[in-house]
Amino acid sequence: MKALKNECWECSHCHCLYALEALAEKCCLCPRCKKVSLGYCQDCAEIDQARLAIERKQKASVLPLASYANKWVYDESSDRFFRNCEDLAHYYCESHSELQKPSFVWTCYDITLGFDAAELVHSALDEHADSEKESVDAEAIAELQGLLDDWCAKQDVQSWLPDYDAYIDLTEFWKEQNEEKTSTEAN
Ligand SMILES: [Zn+2]
Ligand SMILES: [Zn+2]
Repeated sequence: MKALKNECWECSHCHCLYALEALAEKCCLCPRCKKVSLGYCQDCAEIDQARLAIERKQKASVLPLASYANKWVYDESSDRFFRNCEDLAHYYCESHSELQKPSFVWTCYDITLGFDAAELVHSALDEHADSEKESVDAEAIAELQGLLDDWCAKQDVQSWLPDYDAYIDLTEFWKEQNEEKTSTEAN
């Protein structure tokens, strides 16, 4: 029998114990800049986010506004969705003219309300005998799907999410807005 000498290392910030010195050393440090921080520090996290945002935009395609007229857009700089670019213009030119206008906005896609009849039937019949499960056939499921679709269509539920595959460059749009403004002012 021999006595084991249990050596361990303590993080000098949170006092967590580690079997390895290297682990204790990096416990409370930002992995990038080595500042005291749990995980990435705020500065490094912001740099990362900015880099990701740039990469995301580089990979996306640019759509002309004309091909995306009167549809929802997402503005990254204000973190807001707008019903269309006219609403965006109103926000930046009328209600918040002190803010810098964004150079682009993301296109959006909608998520509609929907139920999967087959899934609902499957879970409702879960504890029933196999013979009972089989009694609900494809035709019955299609009938239920029709009822569910009709019900969903009657509800006013629709949400929007940014579509990071395509954005709209607003350079021309702001120029036009400016010209419109100048011509109304001149009248
Ligand atoms: Zn620590
Ligand atoms: Zn850092």
